[in-house]
Amino acid sequence: MMNIPFASVDVMHREIEDKMLAAFKRVYDNNWFIQGKECEEFEKEFAAYCGADYCVGCGNGLDALYLILRAYGIGEGDEVIVPSNTYIATALAVSYTGAKPVFVEPIIDTFNINPDLIEAAVTDRTKAVMAVHLYGQPARMDEIKKVAAKYGLKVIEDSAQAHGAIYKGVKTGVLGDAAGFSLYPGKNLGALGDGGVIVTNDKELADKCRALGNYGSDYKYHHIYKGNNSRLDEVQAALLRVKLECLDKWNQRRNEIARMYIDGITNDKVVLPVTDEGVTHVYHIFGIRCSERDALEKYLNDKGIGTNKHYPIPMHLQGAYEELGFKEGDFPIAEEISKTELSLPMYYGMTDEEVSYVIDAINAWR
Ligand SMILES: *Cc1c(COP(=O)(O)O)cnc(C)c1O
Repeated sequence: MMNIPFASVDVMHREIEDKMLAAFKRVYDNNWFIQGKECEEFEKEFAAYCGADYCVGCGNGLDALYLILRAYGIGEGDEVIVPSNTYIATALAVSYTGAKPVFVEPIIDTFNINPDLIEAAVTDRTKAVMAVHLYGQPARMDEIKKVAAKYGLKVIEDSAQAHGAIYKGVKTGVLGDAAGFSLYPGKNLGALGDGGVIVTNDKELADKCRALGNYGSDYKYHHIYKGNNSRLDEVQAALLRVKLECLDKWNQRRNEIARMYIDGITNDKVVLPVTDEGVTHVYHIFGIRCSERDALEKYLNDKGIGTNKHYPIPMHLQGAYEELGFKEGDFPIAEEISKTELSLPMYYGMTDEEVSYVIDAINAWR
């Protein structure tokens, strides 16, 4: 029996170990740990990678989204449209500003927000749409931007799962007004701790986010906002610079694994994920659907195959959002995904033999 984890950074980290240790030593020898040249260089390199003018490091992905919303002046009394199927951080970023997250159902085949349902959720309080590129696939940005333009809404990308993904020739990060990325260790580009970045072509927004994440300070001991402390530290930035060089290679391998899954899985109890025309998916998560998900999960786990669910409880049924007053049945597509989605092993370093083992196991399941 093989033992295949759901995710692993093991091979990835072995391959770059020398460079990572050298990067750490650079910071160690430099004796400068916050807001120094590693962060500055990483910001430049990540902006260039996305094709953006500005990049601002911050503490984590949740903060990146929150700082963008706050910098746009979104707060109490406002509404922000978010997908009903996403990680809770998307909605929490909205809640932290005092605004209300308004959930819109996804397209079940792609798991991403259904642009056709956005207009019906717009009110005179709506200020922005948060477009999440869930599982690594860009959302349908042209359609989202069309509705946003009609109502004068900001479009903010939650690109926490989609570093390097491409929509009609353009990388995520510059598909809307501003984007937040998470650099959590398990993301396609991950630090060895928490981290996040804001990416935008809007200089004013970038400057404001930078100040907001640094105690509201535009220069030392001069405070123009009641800001937060949310910064990307020098150690993480130095390590991320090493990792950024490998990101395309790692995403390429994820695509190869996904291709093997899609070509190889033939069990008709399993529904494979759908990728839109004209996009490059980066498969942060490879999610299949199955009406007997829990039985399939147990079967695979018993065969030594690690799995996960993204996400087992939809946001509108979480205790944290009790205040919104939703009940079972209010967002049936998000609920259906929560009951049927199963995430298969997906990581750089997973061998073809391991992928085949997973495929064979699924195909043998009755
Ligand atoms: C991971 C994630 C976040 C939050 O990022 P953190 O760095 O963990 O704060 C936000 N949105 C989505 C979709 C995520 O997957």
